[in-house]
Amino acid sequence: MPTSPTPCPGGCNRAWRQAETTGLPRDYQPTWGQPVHCHECQHRTRTCLAELPELLAAIWLEAMNGTARPADVTTMRPAGTAPWPGQASRLLTDLIVGGLAELEDDIRQLRQLPARAVDIREGTAITATIAFLDTHLHWALEHHPCAAEIHERDSANPASQIRTWHAMALRFTRRDARVEQRTAPCKRCGWRSLFYADGEDYIECRNPACGALLTEDEYASWAREIAETSRTQLRQVA
Ligand SMILES: [Zn+2]
Ligand SMILES: [Zn+2]
Repeated sequence: MPTSPTPCPGGCNRAWRQAETTGLPRDYQPTWGQPVHCHECQHRTRTCLAELPELLAAIWLEAMNGTARPADVTTMRPAGTAPWPGQASRLLTDLIVGGLAELEDDIRQLRQLPARAVDIREGTAITATIAFLDTHLHWALEHHPCAAEIHERDSANPASQIRTWHAMALRFTRRDARVEQRTAPCKRCGWRSLFYADGEDYIECRNPACGALLTEDEYASWAREIAETSRTQLRQVA
């Protein structure tokens, strides 16, 4: 258990961590953990977990709709062409449901709790696992051996895993579609490649060589700066 405040390992500190590694000047502090994850990351992770049952149902519906398409039911398809109907849905469901169950097993083992019931129907099992994780979420985010790992792909941090599964489910069900491009060029690379995606903490540069992250405030003052500069230039020309 840390004695002095440590930065939250969550997505809230992505820009701060980027500044730390690239040496870019930043005039703000990281978001501190309470004591490991900040309150916002704790809250968001709980919301993501609560939304998973509905998202899993939506992924399953997608598979059913896929199966309903006549072109998909042929058994004469040559090997190695199209996947079987609903395959993508099934694979994603297995990945998320398997991951949730593994996390439950892991917590049960660490907390010396009785093993998970395995001889129950899939739907019931998912509900039970999510209820279990909700009960033990605070422990998982603050006391799990991987709770302080930085959130990134393949991290074993329970919060990061839950957020990743949620994001995958959103993308699959096409509910993450609200992405807007910002008009000012990137502060670092100069490309017009700044985008904000719904639910994200930052405006992100999509130039693969750059990847700069800006908060709303930073973007606003940068856009003002550009507007000022172009006004001055216009006056000089006139
Ligand atoms: Zn945080
Ligand atoms: Zn950039």
